Amino acid sequence: MIVIKFGGTSVEDAAAIDRSCYIVGERLSRRPFVIVSALGGATNGLLEAGSYAARGELGKAMTIADRLEYRHAELLPSIAEHFVRLRELLKALAAIGEFSPRTQDLIASYGEVLSSLIVVDRMKRLGLDAVHVDARQCVVTDDRFGRASPILDLTTSRLVEAARPHLDAGRLVVMGGYIGSTLSGTTTTLGRGGSDYSAAIAGAALNADEIQIWTDVDGMMTADPRIVPGAWKVKEISFDEASELAYFGAKVLHPLTVLPAVEKNIPVYILNSKNPKGTGTRITREARPCRNLIKSIACKRGITIVTVSSSRMLMAHGFLRALFEVFDRHHTSVDMVATSEVSVSLTLDDVSSLQPILEELKQLGDVEVSSKTALICLVGNNLKYTPGVARRAFGSIADINILMVSHGASNINFSFLVDEKDATAAIQKLHADFFREVDSEVFEPAV
Ligand code: ADP
Ligand code: ASP
Ligand code: MG
Repeated sequence: MIVIKFGGTSVEDAAAIDRSCYIVGERLSRRPFVIVSALGGATNGLLEAGSYAARGELGKAMTIADRLEYRHAELLPSIAEHFVRLRELLKALAAIGEFSPRTQDLIASYGEVLSSLIVVDRMKRLGLDAVHVDARQCVVTDDRFGRASPILDLTTSRLVEAARPHLDAGRLVVMGGYIGSTLSGTTTTLGRGGSDYSAAIAGAALNADEIQIWTDVDGMMTADPRIVPGAWKVKEISFDEASELAYFGAKVLHPLTVLPAVEKNIPVYILNSKNPKGTGTRITREARPCRNLIKSIACKRGITIVTVSSSRMLMAHGFLRALFEVFDRHHTSVDMVATSEVSVSLTLDDVSSLQPILEELKQLGDVEVSSKTALICLVGNNLKYTPGVARRAFGSIADINILMVSHGASNINFSFLVDEKDATAAIQKLHADFFREVDSEVFEPAV
């Protein structure tokens, strides 16, 4: 069997849904398990409505709910009843004046609950033998709302139990991505972009032959095509390279997607639902040799640098441990670290616990914070063997100020920090330099 996942743009309206149903219809002999995201933009809309309601701006929240209802009910009229409950929830939020992570997950879950019902309905009307499986009854997670982790053994057995009989009987199974629930039945989400992760979990649970991620670009590209319109498609890339790129900002793949696939050695494809004849990108354990030094450039914006300076650090052991324990206590991961005699600089992506972290760090030394920086990351297996990447990279962006540098611990990435306003220019210049000539065995033009 195979897992086929459609992202938001691949189910954004009736035409996109029909294209996606057609893609599934052409693959029936491979027994697809289909995962769908919310309709493009719906998750943002739902969360925005919740925020307005909690701030007391119920009118604005209801206007968004009206627009969402119109869009969904146009595709499946019976879905209107879900909006009665959604509106009640928004009113309750306005009364409480608080939008907790738990409630955010509940509100956001409407996106995938509704899209999966819409897609199943459309498939049936197109004559496909499809059944709906509710992700909240199969994907069992912990209760870290907003970024819950699946409990894998339970999730696997529930997915197998819910899907296997249908797949064996030749039926299509459709499930919403991104959402799950705790053991006691409270709705959770796997984090933004998490439908890719749902697809990988389902693929591993059901021992899929492959996992197909259908999106709005031709595959993993040499840079985000929104930043570099002439970016090339990477035909083949290793699990390691792909997960590094995803972690450092290549939004086309959720960073955790690769893990379940690696464990079971299931190839993952990234494909374009607007160009279904394309061959996409194949992500596998071993990628073929490549003559280019790197495969792609990723970028994460909104990075914060925290610098702690202290003369106590001089020759003192235990200082770094104390420092990292602060981040550990607040479940905040650090991407990059640079140390000098008397200071340590670290970069953070997740600043949700920044204030309490800063309070604790002040006990260790003087603390400085600078936000609005961007982490640019060059990724490729060849970086393992080739010296001089820093010289070449910095040569092509000599006019841009570099704030921090790290040759990644994984040795297949080279990353550095620039001011956010310089990020686009830096990526474009790096791309022009590193992909002036490309190995045609590995790269091809996007359509
Ligand atoms: P979906 O809704 O299908 O999950 P996403 O919006 O999450 O789609 O991801 C697709 C987007 O990822 C593309 O439109 C593209 O702008 C962005 N992207 C960023 N980096 C890359 C990259 N290296 N290759 C391809 N797309 C990328
Ligand atoms: N709908 C969710 C989001 O927008 C999950 C996903 O698209 O993968 O983040
Ligand atoms: Mg996505």
